[in-house]
Amino acid sequence: MGRRPSKLVSDSPWQGLAFGSRKRLLMALDEREKQAITRLRADGLGYKAIASTLNVSRDQVRAFTTRHGIAAGPRPEDGARWCRWCGSRLPERSDGKKPRFCCTEHRRLFWRSHPEAGVRKAFYQFTCVNCGTQFEAYGNATRKYCSHACYIRHRFNTRGGK
Ligand SMILES: [Zn+2]
Ligand SMILES: [Zn+2]
Repeated sequence: MGRRPSKLVSDSPWQGLAFGSRKRLLMALDEREKQAITRLRADGLGYKAIASTLNVSRDQVRAFTTRHGIAAGPRPEDGARWCRWCGSRLPERSDGKKPRFCCTEHRRLFWRSHPEAGVRKAFYQFTCVNCGTQFEAYGNATRKYCSHACYIRHRFNTRGGK
């Protein structure tokens, strides 16, 4: 039951290919994807993790690695990340950011090829409507308050005043 809903692949190059046709699905992997799968497998990722990283199907990953006898490497440590386009291992960062790509070019290529792969989250800049503090929020474009306390204060102060 690990297959994606068909809606997610409706805009992909493999549109219309029967899910039951392993051979045709295998042909749909391009060289870049095959190399990335090989890298990720060598780094110890499972089928499901590889599939979600590259936005390909789990069946494609399993069929390709099985056919080519690509054995899984040792299990990676928690928190390890890989580029979603080329499958290369991403270095630890001291600033706490967790990018999913090795470079901006690979980010651009991935999202151009997989616009359906998920809602892109971004940092949004806000000014708190209560205290005027500038703040950033991740993946939420509708924040108005820097904190719950400001939300409460603002609601309380303006209650009945509108
Ligand atoms: Zn990359
Ligand atoms: Zn505030």
